[in-house]
Amino acid sequence: MNLKYNVFGRRPLQYAVISEVSCTGCGWCAKFCPMECIKLRQDGFYTAEEMQCIGCGKCKRNCFWSAIEMIQRSHQEALL
Ligand code: SF4
Ligand code: SF4
Repeated sequence: MNLKYNVFGRRPLQYAVISEVSCTGCGWCAKFCPMECIKLRQDGFYTAEEMQCIGCGKCKRNCFWSAIEMIQRSHQEALL
């Protein structure tokens, strides 16, 4: 897989970032990710792999602890 662009051949205009402070490590968000890009880290918390994320927001909508933020990209950044 090309690590610079996701499966759609470009970067999405937003991507998910999981807060290490707010995340409880429950793993619920990972069940909703269509890209299976939310992974359990060795320290017990979860992280969303930026280059595979398509920015759908399903993880954010399903996190009970509001631990996920969607980071916006400009159109220019998406094409870099
Ligand atoms: S659902 Fe929220 S609290 Fe649970 S692992 Fe995902 S980001 Fe962390
Ligand atoms: S925004 Fe969508 S693709 Fe990205 S990590 Fe969340 S569920 Fe997965």
